[in-house]
Amino acid sequence: MTATHATIAAPTCPGCGSSQVAQHPTSLSSGRTVVTCRACRLRFWAERDQFVSTQHASDTDAAARQQLASEYSGYADGKRIGIVESAWSDTIARLREMASSTASPRLYDVGAGDGAFLRLAEEYGFEVAGNEVHAGAVQLAADRYGYDLALGDLSELDLEPVHDALTMWCVLVHTDDVDQTLRNCRALLRPGGTMFLQTPHWTAADEIALSLLRATRGRVSRVVDRRVASHHWQLHTKRSMQVLLERHGFDVVEIRPRARYSLNSTLYMQSLGVPVPLARRTSRVVDLAIKYGPVPRIVLDVYARKR
Ligand SMILES: [Zn+2]
Repeated sequence: MTATHATIAAPTCPGCGSSQVAQHPTSLSSGRTVVTCRACRLRFWAERDQFVSTQHASDTDAAARQQLASEYSGYADGKRIGIVESAWSDTIARLREMASSTASPRLYDVGAGDGAFLRLAEEYGFEVAGNEVHAGAVQLAADRYGYDLALGDLSELDLEPVHDALTMWCVLVHTDDVDQTLRNCRALLRPGGTMFLQTPHWTAADEIALSLLRATRGRVSRVVDRRVASHHWQLHTKRSMQVLLERHGFDVVEIRPRARYSLNSTLYMQSLGVPVPLARRTSRVVDLAIKYGPVPRIVLDVYARKR
């Protein structure tokens, strides 16, 4: 493939603002270029700002919303049974403990999906609210739990600093403007309130995959293409996350890498390009490896308090 992308001559790091970055060869398959920030170690997709999101569907009618709801439930129900739930309950228990001085703490979930996490938060004594950009998910949350989620991006909503806890499950690096998202999150929290977020983590396995891409000048790119994409356009390290949060007025409580594979193995292997019959046959082995083996810790769990 010829270089048809008007690649930005010197991209700056969207995490820390440094211009000390290393641009890797463009993937011949996806046409995307990964950049490493030498200062904070964030990895990001260079051409992301040329990509226009078309996902905001706030003007769809009721029939279309039901259709979107059924598509969305296919996604929500493809998650790995047990893994997501146990991460949710560990997290909500910790957030409740951090808000133990408040009788009925308030929690806001950004990108609340079908509302299942909010339902759990209610069981732990939180008053809950949330938003969602996917109209199908808003409909599902209404059908399943009677929630009235705000439809739209945080930047379109009224934000009040009244929440004791804010959660973002794999939302931050889906958003077009990470800085604006963090400013909006901060605006929703009272001082001292806790933000929890889960976000993709750049692992040693990713570094190996990137070395292969470099050595083959962009020909061997499948893993990198899967990991750095439109829905995961920045992959953080502990250091890059720390820098980002401090820049936005948060004190870091904990940043911990986790081996949490939310999609079930068959779907995950399909997403890496493994053919369906093979993915089905081997998914049990992969399940066992994830449960017991030394597998890459592909996400970061982050707790931070608003200053
Ligand atoms: Zn950086």
